[in-house]
Amino acid sequence: MLNLLLKQILLDLGDFEEEFHQFHLQDTIAIYKLTAIFVAVANLAMLSVDSLFLDGQRELLIWMILLRGLYTAFTLIALLVVQRPKTNHARIESVTFVWVLITSVYFILFNFIRPSNHLTTSIDVLLIFGIYVLAPLRMSRLVALTVSFSIGSVAVAFLTKTDVAVVNRTIMLCIHIFVQLLGLASALQIQSYRRTAFLAYRREKEARELALEMLRVDSMTKSLTRQYFLEMAEQEFARARRYFYPLSVLMMDIDHFKNVNDSYGHRAGDETLRKFSELVIAQKRQSDQLGRLGGEEFALLLPETDISDAERVARRIQELWAETQVQVSALMVNSTVSIGGTMISDSDQIFEDMLIRADEIMYKAKQNGRNRVEVAPVDP
Ligand code: GH3
Ligand code: MG
Ligand code: MG
Repeated sequence: MLNLLLKQILLDLGDFEEEFHQFHLQDTIAIYKLTAIFVAVANLAMLSVDSLFLDGQRELLIWMILLRGLYTAFTLIALLVVQRPKTNHARIESVTFVWVLITSVYFILFNFIRPSNHLTTSIDVLLIFGIYVLAPLRMSRLVALTVSFSIGSVAVAFLTKTDVAVVNRTIMLCIHIFVQLLGLASALQIQSYRRTAFLAYRREKEARELALEMLRVDSMTKSLTRQYFLEMAEQEFARARRYFYPLSVLMMDIDHFKNVNDSYGHRAGDETLRKFSELVIAQKRQSDQLGRLGGEEFALLLPETDISDAERVARRIQELWAETQVQVSALMVNSTVSIGGTMISDSDQIFEDMLIRADEIMYKAKQNGRNRVEVAPVDP
């Protein structure tokens, strides 16, 4: 029932639950530390109240000092566990659960020790509200811990605070119920905001990744966009120059592509481009980069490849493409490709120098009859 209610109020993040906790990990740790330190200091400060209550009961006061010291040590150990490297949400949740549980038992014990005419309502409700608002626990645990604490405190009040008027003890019960509801509502609101904040961050991250993907990958052919291909190619070019690696590039242009569009329609043209890109991606090595430089022009960058190997790759692509039939509805469309290849030379200053040369050689292939491969002679 509670779970159902919670699911309606709190966004279900499904598979992102873990990432959500990770997203809030640092602020969760910070709040945990702040709270634990505050409670530990307040606990020690309460010794001054103890000394007033236990005036003349020296032995009990010494026990009190010991108990408060132990609790402070326990809190510090819990802090150290949370501080350990590679802390994750599961660890923080376990430590918090144990810490809150012990703290609650500790408070009930103090209620018990206090004189029979003294109620600790204000401190108790502060604890309950503090747990609801600050403890990074799942809601069912928050409710279980605080309600158990309320029952314990109220039971102690009704059983042992016999010198307090019944009306005051009843008021205390009402205050507990009230703060339980207020605490639960506040916790739900805080957790709901935390989830919404995470979702907004998640959506923004996805939108950014999508925008980046669209900038980098041509959605139709799945080859790299012109801009990203040139960026990658410049980096490869710099690496090849620095380490004297060979680097080759193939410029590929589908022959009479306009005729494909004119004869079979634009859809057949698009399907041809998709299929061609698919073929080259299947033929290339993982380190090679395929970019779509314009309508039906593609470039294949081959790092650490000399021109004779690049030529072999080019011939394989050209031959396979000539045999490839692209099916568009009932039609079978066939086209060829002309490829110009070149490799890095000492005179190249930027990658564009290689690309311009590859383009000129590709046009030579066109002039020499299309459906062929031409490569630039290597510098002597
Ligand atoms: P050549 O053999 O000399 O390369 O001739 P071509 O017809 O392939 O070359 P041209 O540059 O004359 O024509 C290219 C055509 O490619 C023109 C343009 O409409 C078409 N095109 C460009 N981008 C796309 C696209 O994304 N989809 C389709 N279907 N056609 C495109
Ligand atoms: Mg063409
Ligand atoms: Mg062209």
